[in-house]
Amino acid sequence: MLSQLKLLQPTTVREASQALADYGEKAKLYAGGAELLLLLRNGFLNSEILIDVKKIESLHRIGLDNGVMRIGACVTHRELEQSALVRAHAPAFAYAESQVANVRVRNQGTLGGNLAFNDPHSDPGTVLLIHDAAVVIGNQSGNRRMPLKQFFLDVYATALEPGDVLLEIEVPALPVGMKGAYLRLHRYQRPTLGVAAGALVSGGMLEEVRLAVGCVGPKAERLSELERKIKGANLNEAKQILAAEKNYLRALLRPVDDLLGTAEYKLYMTGVLLGDALEQATQNGNYVKS
Ligand SMILES: Cc1cc2nc3c(=O)[nH]c(=O)nc-3n(C[C@H](O)[C@H](O)[C@H](O)COP(=O)(O)OP(=O)(O)OC[C@H]3O[C@@H](n4cnc5c(N)ncnc54)[C@H](O)[C@@H]3O)c2cc1C
Repeated sequence: MLSQLKLLQPTTVREASQALADYGEKAKLYAGGAELLLLLRNGFLNSEILIDVKKIESLHRIGLDNGVMRIGACVTHRELEQSALVRAHAPAFAYAESQVANVRVRNQGTLGGNLAFNDPHSDPGTVLLIHDAAVVIGNQSGNRRMPLKQFFLDVYATALEPGDVLLEIEVPALPVGMKGAYLRLHRYQRPTLGVAAGALVSGGMLEEVRLAVGCVGPKAERLSELERKIKGANLNEAKQILAAEKNYLRALLRPVDDLLGTAEYKLYMTGVLLGDALEQATQNGNYVKS
């Protein structure tokens, strides 16, 4: 059972941030509530006041600005999966959104809530990393912007500070000619493993590569060192390099044995799925089928 909660519904970011400042630890930001209500109901979190950010109009926008897609924090997974703009600008991201849980969760959950909660078993963050996405955060002193890579700190930990509201996610397009692919493994609804690859091929060689892995470690990671090693290789050589790089992946991702599999299994599957995603990216990438 949920204890009695007071619901505030600010219509501006300033009001939401002011409410956070006024009530401190007693208050929590509330978007779709997919995570928050479960935590409250199960007693993992206490709160007296919910600050519902969904009445803030600017947090619901999706738009394109000088080639950068801007997504308001309260846009739901379902809206992203269905948006013609998202499908055209970042097809692999739209595809990743279409894989989140089920249609009920996708209708309820928001991109901002997903990134702010930073559960390691999430889909969107991984593919956003190959887009070099950034977040815009607001509080009473103004707004600041940071790369998503820096926003993710650790399991359930982000760079958000008390009083902060996640406002917007900036998603640049992939470089011209680069295709993206996202693949995931799942045993339950949440992903056990998610990988994203971007590939730009010229003369049969990988001229530019972007790789990211989520779910296996505490947070989604870009694999910059592997990207450098693969650059200039052909697909087969790249797959061999990926399969041989278990030690790099182990050190970066720090996988553990758990109910979803052993650390060795996760590392092995990471190599396999990275190869598959890279292959898909060298072809047409993936996208949501209409
Ligand atoms: C059954 C189930 C299955 C799921 N499966 C998947 C899956 O397969 N893949 C996947 O990626 N995710 C999955 N999820 C997670 C789901 O995507 C997230 O629950 C959802 O996106 C969170 O968004 P929300 O708006 O509901 O956040 P809320 O529950 O409202 O909030 C989550 C957290 O973020 C904070 N917050 C929310 N909005 C903001 C903001 N604008 N600024 C700062 N902080 C904010 C809240 O205070 C809270 O701490 C699953 C969840 C459930 C319940």
